[in-house]
Amino acid sequence: MPEPLPWDQISNPKPLQLKNTPPVVVVGAGLAGCWIARTLAERGVNVLVLDASTQVASAGSSNPVGLFKPYVTRSNSFAMQFYLEAYRCLQHRLHQWGLHDASNYTGCGVLQLVESAYPQSHHYQSIPASETRQQTGSDLDADALLFNSAGWLNPAALCRALLGHMNITVRCQQRIIDISAASDHQWKISVDAQTELIAEHIVLGTGAASTGLDVAKALTTIPARGQLSRFSLAEGASKLGKVVNGKSYVIPDGDSIVVGATFERGVNDNSVSELDNALNLKGLSDTIPEYKVTPQAINAYSGVRATTPDRLPMVGPVPDIDLCNDVYADIRHGRQLDHYPPLPVHRGLYAIAGLGSRGIVTAPFAASLLSDFILGGQAISEWMPLINPARFIVRQLKRSGEKA
Ligand SMILES: Cc1cc2nc3c(=O)[nH]c(=O)nc-3n(C[C@H](O)[C@H](O)[C@H](O)COP(=O)(O)OP(=O)(O)OC[C@H]3O[C@@H](n4cnc5c(N)ncnc54)[C@H](O)[C@@H]3O)c2cc1C
Repeated sequence: MPEPLPWDQISNPKPLQLKNTPPVVVVGAGLAGCWIARTLAERGVNVLVLDASTQVASAGSSNPVGLFKPYVTRSNSFAMQFYLEAYRCLQHRLHQWGLHDASNYTGCGVLQLVESAYPQSHHYQSIPASETRQQTGSDLDADALLFNSAGWLNPAALCRALLGHMNITVRCQQRIIDISAASDHQWKISVDAQTELIAEHIVLGTGAASTGLDVAKALTTIPARGQLSRFSLAEGASKLGKVVNGKSYVIPDGDSIVVGATFERGVNDNSVSELDNALNLKGLSDTIPEYKVTPQAINAYSGVRATTPDRLPMVGPVPDIDLCNDVYADIRHGRQLDHYPPLPVHRGLYAIAGLGSRGIVTAPFAASLLSDFILGGQAISEWMPLINPARFIVRQLKRSGEKA
């Protein structure tokens, strides 16, 4: 575990009290917003969820299928520990809150194709190419890792199920256009230039739109468009028993499979395209050669992910970017670290951002760490070197001295 640096140190001077406190406002009803809303609600907090769209889970989380599995690397790393914890948290929460049926949870197992052998581990089973061929019914020539408890679920249905709690109120068609300080402990939320709300605690779960609000400009993420395509199995094609994850992932769903996902960095457009269907068909034949489907996609789903350069999410209090620029201005000159203060943050304003391509797995753990912090806990501190929302600002100041 890396030594925490000054900018990884955060504290909550005024944790949320359960009594006589106005609801926590969560902006965004995708996986980030729905997991934090439910996690707070389960701890007795009243939550008001606001979303710009006409319905819950209408943006990046709108897909009917998504893969969940542990993300492992050949050698153990701090990031791998984070993903393993996140995976455990997902499984635990789905079970604890009885969300399996409502989310179409299908723990059929995931075969991850690998180019060369991975070390033995209790997190997966190493499968030789001969068995991979047998499992996929193809002439695939690849070793694989088998994650027995992994599989797929329906993210949009999961979001809706998460919000079904008596402490949660949901309001759609509420676009937040500005958040500004109303006093030293209150925020003014401007909704669609007409309505204003006052809140003490706000969590942003705004996905690819995270940088749209001036107060949250520290949450710089990179949009990456993606599309999934559904194909019918051709006559005589055998059904896959497991998700296959290679160049693309192939999710078996009855008489069809869903293949994805395309990835176009820098593109913020969620319209379905025929070109992406063709790319997914090619992805299928690169992943499981000879697998027979009807080549015309029967359906497709697209969305925009909010990615970060290191693929890890941004979780915690929202950094005060102007203060960060000031207090860490000279870090590239190698001064003693104890010269620098802890991370300057906006009090009462938090975020779960940059979930990228792994939001199904990371959102519940992010929500667990953040809800604990909002209520006065410090479990998040251990993970701050990985998920600190200010890490890219600090790295830039260190590298070039350039202010964000
Ligand atoms: C094609 C595709 C395939 C994927 N496959 C997988 C997969 O297999 N496994 C996996 O783990 N992950 C996958 N992902 C990633 C996963 O879906 C995302 O990480 C996750 O959905 C992000 O959730 P979010 O809540 O951060 O953002 P979103 O779901 O985009 O939610 C953000 C919400 O905020 C609202 N909002 C934004 N700005 C405002 C505002 N100013 N006021 C009010 N509301 C606002 C939006 O309306 C939206 O509802 C995939 C993503 C895509 C696009």
